[in-house]
Amino acid sequence: MSATFAVTFESPVTGTSQAWARVPAEPDPAERDVLMARCAELLRAHDAALVAHYYTHPDLQDLAQATGGLVADSLEMARFGARHAASTLVVAGVRFMGETAKMLSMDKRVLMPDLDANCSLDLGCPAPQFSAFCDAHPDRTVVVYANTSAAVKARADWVVTSSCALDIVAHLHARGEKILWAPDRHLGGYIQQQTGADMLLWQGSCIVHDEFKALELEMLKAEHPRAKVLVHPESPAQVVALADVVGSTSQILKAARELDAPEFIVATDTGMFHALKQQNPGKTFIPAPTAGNAATCKSCAHCPWMAMNTLAGLARVLESGHNTIELAPDLAQRARLPVARMLDFTAAQATAATRGSLVPGIGAA
Ligand code: SF4
Repeated sequence: MSATFAVTFESPVTGTSQAWARVPAEPDPAERDVLMARCAELLRAHDAALVAHYYTHPDLQDLAQATGGLVADSLEMARFGARHAASTLVVAGVRFMGETAKMLSMDKRVLMPDLDANCSLDLGCPAPQFSAFCDAHPDRTVVVYANTSAAVKARADWVVTSSCALDIVAHLHARGEKILWAPDRHLGGYIQQQTGADMLLWQGSCIVHDEFKALELEMLKAEHPRAKVLVHPESPAQVVALADVVGSTSQILKAARELDAPEFIVATDTGMFHALKQQNPGKTFIPAPTAGNAATCKSCAHCPWMAMNTLAGLARVLESGHNTIELAPDLAQRARLPVARMLDFTAAQATAATRGSLVPGIGAA
């Protein structure tokens, strides 16, 4: 039985709450090589494609790239899985990503290395309470972040990711619609401030991004005056205010490639540093500070649930066929509608002239 540890998160419904995460075992270099080869063979033998999030272990990112899979943010993960010809998708990420892949590909088998990989935003937005919140505000268009359960998505008019949230809310605001937003209060607040939209916010937060500290970031900036600051908008507003670029994971990567700076301070999960370093060999990336006066066990800036994805777990599920994502067809159909709306919007946007985005001067992801 593997070890677990408690993860404390803030829930707008239950207040300070506890969940748990499994402690991942790190293979030694020889074990790693054997596991990489075995996983590659299993993916091929099972007609499977690996779709890994940027926050997962570098081994999984390398394996996805080496086997024709994908390393991406949640928007690209959703798109890729639906388009790929493989009969099995293995989603290395957290639970809601597996569910989104499944609802877009009901004919495919969707596996996850660890079905208990969760997310504080998802945990902090239970469907019954969220549905009651929506019922209390029937005049508002319901926009939910991808980091939610299928049941919450099924209650929404639109699903968004951090890559497209600003554009979609700006579009709805231009149509005169008032927004009910869930679950991340920091991202919602940022979009509200950028668009001027009338937004009612669910008060959820990400345990990783909520930990970044503005005062310590200011001190770090002073130590690195040539560094550009890249911030994910799930971070607190005071941290976002210090950013040169605010954006999703893919937008942070784009900014790091395109901005002419030798150093970057990055406020997002440290899993991102693998792709940042791979794509920018001559540049230096410095983690934004989390360990201020209020430092906690969450202050490592790495999601404990993303860390539950391992090569060993991947091999195990491909060999056993366990850890399949199952969704009731009716629920999948209702949840798919707002996701499809997002995918249609972003596809149309990609073919149209570039509009505003989360990344000033960089363009849409
Ligand atoms: S990093 Fe935050 S938003 Fe992403 S899965 Fe972990 S808890 Fe959820």
